Amino acid sequence: MLIFRKPVEGVERPQMPADVVIVGGGPAGMACALRLAQLIDAHNSAHPDSQLSKENIYVLEKAREIGQHCLSGALLDPRSIRELLPDFEKDAPLDAKVTKEAVYFLTEKSKFKLPITPPFLRDHGNYIISLNKFVKWLGAKVEATGITVFTGFAGSELLFDGDRVVGVQTDDKGVDKEGHRKSNFEPGYDLRAKVVILAEGPRGSLTKQLIQKFDLAKNANPQTYGVGVKELWEVPSGRIAAGEVIYTLGWPLTTHEYGGAWIYGSPGSSSKDNVVSLGYVTGLDYADPRLDPQRVLQDFKQHPFVAKLLEGGKMIRYGAKSMPYGGWWAIPPVAGNGWMILGDSAGFLNSARLKGIHLAIKSGMLAAETAFEALIKNDSSAATLSAFQRKVESSWIKEELWKVRNLHQGFEHGMYAGMFHTALQMITGGRGLRNRYPAKAGYEHMRKLSDLPADGGAEAHLLGPAKGDGKLTFDKLTDLYHSGTKHEEDQPSHLVIHDTNICNTKCVKEFGSPCQNFCPANVYEMVEDATQPNGKRISLNPSNCVHCKTCDIADPYQIITWVPPEGGGGPNYDGM
Ligand SMILES: Cc1cc2nc3c(=O)[nH]c(=O)nc-3n(C[C@H](O)[C@H](O)[C@H](O)COP(=O)(O)OP(=O)(O)OC[C@H]3O[C@@H](n4cnc5c(N)ncnc54)[C@H](O)[C@@H]3O)c2cc1C
Ligand code: SF4
Repeated sequence: MLIFRKPVEGVERPQMPADVVIVGGGPAGMACALRLAQLIDAHNSAHPDSQLSKENIYVLEKAREIGQHCLSGALLDPRSIRELLPDFEKDAPLDAKVTKEAVYFLTEKSKFKLPITPPFLRDHGNYIISLNKFVKWLGAKVEATGITVFTGFAGSELLFDGDRVVGVQTDDKGVDKEGHRKSNFEPGYDLRAKVVILAEGPRGSLTKQLIQKFDLAKNANPQTYGVGVKELWEVPSGRIAAGEVIYTLGWPLTTHEYGGAWIYGSPGSSSKDNVVSLGYVTGLDYADPRLDPQRVLQDFKQHPFVAKLLEGGKMIRYGAKSMPYGGWWAIPPVAGNGWMILGDSAGFLNSARLKGIHLAIKSGMLAAETAFEALIKNDSSAATLSAFQRKVESSWIKEELWKVRNLHQGFEHGMYAGMFHTALQMITGGRGLRNRYPAKAGYEHMRKLSDLPADGGAEAHLLGPAKGDGKLTFDKLTDLYHSGTKHEEDQPSHLVIHDTNICNTKCVKEFGSPCQNFCPANVYEMVEDATQPNGKRISLNPSNCVHCKTCDIADPYQIITWVPPEGGGGPNYDGM
């Protein structure tokens, strides 16, 4: 029987008072912590008689090391990091400055270069980075200020007092597969905080609790997502220059699916212009449940243009992560009684530019300014923290996202309609046919097998698992090996399925168990079981999980909840 992870009941938990707890040490959380430290230091030197302490400010990060769970493309728009650290170029790990960009439309065998690069994909002035290295660097700066970063600690529950968030409970450690305490059991802490800041990245698990509890999304469009599947390659020198950026649209996706690919060139450790970051982002609003985003990347690499670039090279890393696509209208309120939400958790991502790092950093800075005001006033009620909402709305975050507020919704009826709407929106400052285009949640687009051609029709080449030739293309398990993923095996499943009967009786028949396809890490399997009405039963390999959150997002019955596993477990995205 499957046992799912939940806080152990009936234990006394250590209580720890805190001023500010930031959940998530990605670019948003780290920028928030660093800005808060800067403001406190400035205050303390100006006011020797009323000192503020940084001792009770904590960042919780579920990865064993800072940056280990951070995966991105990544191109950095330096606007916000320049505001945070004006001389960041001196010591930040920047792989290359963008020198050249191009956008191609691919068919199965050919490529067409767009005569002009659309303005939102012009990247001169941006940097190619590894987000993993960048966040490590930022995290070291946070630790140097005296703020404690607890690595290997996940925020697993929010603590409430009526309608107020009053803290965060961290994960219980040392619980076995059956949910029993092991000899090394350690209960999670109750961090009782004046201000709780959620910076968990896309589909944050505490953010989801908060949004559901207070019905925060009731006036927003449903958030929509894409999943990016990425590989890092070492290729023979000279294939792509460090600083060269290529975007592609089209093949292997058809005009019915939303998505596209990136290819970025980096110098690599030996400065030989030989590291290639490439990946394919598939919108999680496709119709055919047999589609497999990991396979989409494998198909993409077989395009002659890409295959030639990678020929003779070696894949060195793999990973996957979701990203919020919904834009401005999908952002819930971002501040309330005792809480604020930042970065991808709030949905601050510009999907037209495939960029969110700069927005995550800026939102972290604005939240830090608000938290600082709350500490000075000793008041973290909604009245004080709602200043964050106003700061976002009067900042360049809104200015940037407002121009693309309807972009993704314009593609809900396919690529041609999407291109028409995009053109119109560009002329009308983002408006298009109306100020606010509606949206449906991505999983609502998934169709039952009975409504789809048995042979897959135009999508046939995208369906089912990739076999892999072991050189250019890989099956999921081979790819997964390169993600460095590790978890404590003896723990309850952190993929919580609220009703496994639905998997075994309805989903297998109606949708053919799409979890087996959309999970990029082979976590979900339907195994033979003669006692089940359809002869199959759901089985899980939670230790394979790369924390991409796709299952929580794309499951058509919405019965999967991703909760953090025991802190420290997960991928090792070194260099990603
Ligand atoms: C494939 C892909 C390509 C992208 N390319 C680009 C690009 O080229 N340029 C760009 O600007 N943006 C890009 N983005 C978007 C960008 O990566 C994000 O917008 C950005 O990382 C968001 O930062 P964040 O701090 O909000 O979240 P994250 O970077 O996701 O960081 C969240 C952190 O919180 C931790 N965490 C989560 N939950 C908990 C918890 N409960 N307890 C403790 N810790 C927790 C995670 O381990 C992680 O370290 C890309 C995204 C993807 C997926
Ligand atoms: S189990 Fe869910 S979160 Fe984990 S890798 Fe698979 S789809 Fe992603």
